[in-house]
Amino acid sequence: MKAEIIAVGTEILLGQVVNTNATFISEELADLGIEVYYHSVVGDNPERLESLLKTADNRSDLVVLCGGLGPTTDDLTKDVVAKYVGQNLVEDVAGRKELDLFFTRAKRKMTSNNLRQVLVFEDGIALPNETGLAIGIFYQSSTTAFLLLPGPPSELRPMFLHHGKALLTEKFPQADKLISRVLRFYGIGESQLVTQLADLIEEQTNPTIAPYAKPNEVTLRLTAKVQDEISGIKLLDKTESAILEEVGEYFYGYGEENSLEAVVVKLLQEKKCRVTAAESLTAGQFQATLANVSGASAIFAGGFVTYAKEQKEQLLQIDPALLDEYGVVSEECAKAMAQNARTIVGADYALSFTGVAGPTELEGQPVGTVWIGLASETEVKAYLYHFTRNRSYVRHSAVMAGLDLLRR
Ligand code: ATP
Ligand code: MG
Repeated sequence: MKAEIIAVGTEILLGQVVNTNATFISEELADLGIEVYYHSVVGDNPERLESLLKTADNRSDLVVLCGGLGPTTDDLTKDVVAKYVGQNLVEDVAGRKELDLFFTRAKRKMTSNNLRQVLVFEDGIALPNETGLAIGIFYQSSTTAFLLLPGPPSELRPMFLHHGKALLTEKFPQADKLISRVLRFYGIGESQLVTQLADLIEEQTNPTIAPYAKPNEVTLRLTAKVQDEISGIKLLDKTESAILEEVGEYFYGYGEENSLEAVVVKLLQEKKCRVTAAESLTAGQFQATLANVSGASAIFAGGFVTYAKEQKEQLLQIDPALLDEYGVVSEECAKAMAQNARTIVGADYALSFTGVAGPTELEGQPVGTVWIGLASETEVKAYLYHFTRNRSYVRHSAVMAGLDLLRR
């Protein structure tokens, strides 16, 4: 079962609209066990759409088209597909009723253009639009199934979820399911991770293992192709265990959305601990990152941005003699910042960040040198890092390293 998705719309080609419909449909089809082989985008142009339809018809069993079901003349998807498969367009009775009702309620006069939105294929299945007027269409030709959905995500999503999904399940019942799981890692680069898992990744076909690198993070997506969910979970569990045996020390959580900061906030919530921070080179980025997580207020009351030396003295009450003796990029400074921040705020933990973000060195220390202090009730420690790349990467790396310290 091979599927493909065609997004129709010049605005997508121009980069004005992001093709989120393709992402959505792909994920949904994967859930149904239908594999998507191609994504294409084509402008509002009948010749090019027709030529793409021919290609799609030849290589796919299911073609999902989105966009171009509206009332205007550039909305041509229906006409082009109808002509291609040799179907007459007829009015959908229920859709027409809704359309009339809409214009009566809005006290507006309907134009003949609007009628185009409720035209469907003579031998097709109409999909109601709960949030708009354009009717969707499912049509099975002798070779290929076509599903036509409206462009606006607010219309496409409910139409697919409430009508398209059931229809596809009924029409293609034999499809295997794809179930997937995302594992998240911090503190290991993508290339190292892939090297350590090389044998597994190579041998493994079900589930497949796909790495994805983000700044300072790597995720692995495991995807199993199965008949039922329970055997899928078993397969995923087995592969996950094998992976964690190799690189478990870097693993910190599951899921696409589950960031390191979210994990830290949850952990602190569970421990009923509060954290504060004193930030020099990161200038509040750590605190802003924590506050991105909903529920952060339970564990974070506030902190300090002490960029200049004077502010370290004034806001954090650090002894000027200490800064003169050791400098601000130092273990001593990091410890003093963390300890004083913790005491002033009355938090359980305090982190401090001081270092050289770049572009030039500071106090004779190279760009990327960062001390992170961690103060708790029982001890104060500082950790030295040598981050690489540019200024923004150094600062981001520092924030992530700070989060990782809190997690451990
Ligand atoms: P309408 O009745 O609103 O004209 P339509 O079915 O004709 O709907 P389009 O005209 O192609 O759809 O697109 C309408 C709007 O929907 C676009 O301006 C855009 O904001 C959004 N849209 C279209 N295609 C996509 C897509 N692939 N991904 C995300 N949004 C999209
Ligand atoms: Mg339109």
